[in-house]
Amino acid sequence: MNFVFLGPPGAGKGTLAAVVASRFGISHVSTGAIFREAIKNQTELGKKVKAIIDSGGLVSDDLTVALVQERLASLKTGFILDGFPRTTGQAEALKNFAKIDGVVNFELDDDTVIRRLAGRRVCKNCGKNYHAEFTPPKVEGTCDACGGELYIRDDDKPEAIRKRLMVYNDQTAPLIEFYGDEIVPIDASKAPDEVLEEFVSKFNLNN
Ligand code: AMP
Repeated sequence: MNFVFLGPPGAGKGTLAAVVASRFGISHVSTGAIFREAIKNQTELGKKVKAIIDSGGLVSDDLTVALVQERLASLKTGFILDGFPRTTGQAEALKNFAKIDGVVNFELDDDTVIRRLAGRRVCKNCGKNYHAEFTPPKVEGTCDACGGELYIRDDDKPEAIRKRLMVYNDQTAPLIEFYGDEIVPIDASKAPDEVLEEFVSKFNLNN
């Protein structure tokens, strides 16, 4: 199966996508993670997108679409697109190179988005996510999984959070109308295991 995960930043798309991908043997394609990896490795792509991402803006449709098209072409499994498409231009383009079986919209109000993003901490080494308030690591500032140092993403700083929400409401929320009846809504305010349960039951994936 091929899924698109829509929803505001901080809705838990990435967390659920990682779990679903490993449980059902499909690929998790996160454009945000691809960009962050490129920035970390200081590649040409990373240099091009760093300032845009740090400020909370969107990378251009051309660049993002080409990247996703290339990534999907290399896959031999189903996939979850996490954070793509983010504009109607990207969604139009996607129709031309992939068949999507399920479009999930993770619903979360703005206040909860801000609270979640402001508390997010990410491991510099393995990328695992924590939340200072809800899912803190055992030792403050240190990753439970690999001992790496935790940091706050530049785009999780207050000004960038405000901008990302504005960009989401302006450019990405219209995709809910774009996909219309195809959308399967999920209440993203619940705990991760309840969100997973709702996803599994709505798509009849029990196994
Ligand atoms: P995310 O981890 O999905 O929140 O993405 C982090 C940042 O990467 C976003 O705020 C954008 O700057 C950039 N980004 C990720 N996906 C896209 C996309 N589909 N189109 C444009 N920019 C993107």
